[in-house]
Amino acid sequence: MLVVGSVNLDLGYRLERLPREGETVRASGSFQAGGGKGANQALAARRLGAQVALLASVGRDAGPALADLAAAGVDLAPVLRHEETVTGAAVLLVGPNDNCIVVDAGANDLLRAEHVRALATSTEPPAVVVTNHEVPAPVVEATVRAYAGRARVLLNPSPARVLDRELLALVDVLVLNAGELTDLLGLGPTPPTPEAVAAILDRGALGDCVVTLGRGGAVVSERGAITHVPAFRVDAIDTVGAGDAFLGALAAGLAAGQDLGAAAERACAAAALAVTAPGARGAALSAETVDALMAGEPAMSRN
Ligand code: ADP
Repeated sequence: MLVVGSVNLDLGYRLERLPREGETVRASGSFQAGGGKGANQALAARRLGAQVALLASVGRDAGPALADLAAAGVDLAPVLRHEETVTGAAVLLVGPNDNCIVVDAGANDLLRAEHVRALATSTEPPAVVVTNHEVPAPVVEATVRAYAGRARVLLNPSPARVLDRELLALVDVLVLNAGELTDLLGLGPTPPTPEAVAAILDRGALGDCVVTLGRGGAVVSERGAITHVPAFRVDAIDTVGAGDAFLGALAAGLAAGQDLGAAAERACAAAALAVTAPGARGAALSAETVDALMAGEPAMSRN
């Protein structure tokens, strides 16, 4: 599979509560780690056994952001390196129940539609292509157009921004959280329950789609059939990166030939493991750890 996306360096601070505007709060700890949705999704998919290449743009300081991808065997040959600038960076404020993130795109903004088209014309299309909104909109558009009909195209429209309807129609599977869903459809605040999300998806405007609901699991819409996949019950210590682990695992499952429902079930297990470890890439994620979680917990006992 191919991931077209962002690479960041994450600097995280653990807080007993998130600050109000104008307020200073002391952190109870901090961490530095590789991040960026593209890199995180690529790593999660690779850790679950998929062959993964990453098309991304990084700056002179990318070493720590890419080291674990290289070690895991993600193909980094397509990564563009810009010595004249810095790698994207994110500051994460991790509260007890939620987090706030500030992102500086850095070299991610230097990824261009031409880079996608050059790769798409020089290499065989993979089974699955994944992209997200941490790269410029023309890159997302070029990715969807270059691979539509040649690969299964997954779009994670995160962070939310306006999406062209015609482009959306070329996406095979849209994967987003409940807030991004309501933003995308221009809906007001909607309770993020499986029932409310199912009712929205039932209107059928989005095609195949997976909506994640945090500890509420995920709602899957595949060829018009809507199902709820419950989350696994775990002791969550850090939800940063849950969505990326979910997406990487989902893409790996689809690349391995699973249907969307089965891939989403595995993705919920991978994301549950992700929230039990600090940082976006800290979990011991592998096919074996995911299998063990799935084998140990029947769906009936889940959230
Ligand atoms: P995002 O990180 O994009 O906001 P979500 O918060 O919806 O995404 O989480 C993505 C997935 O991670 C969920 O569908 C669920 O499977 C899993 N997950 C998130 N939080 C928890 C939790 N507290 N316990 C178990 N699984 C969780």
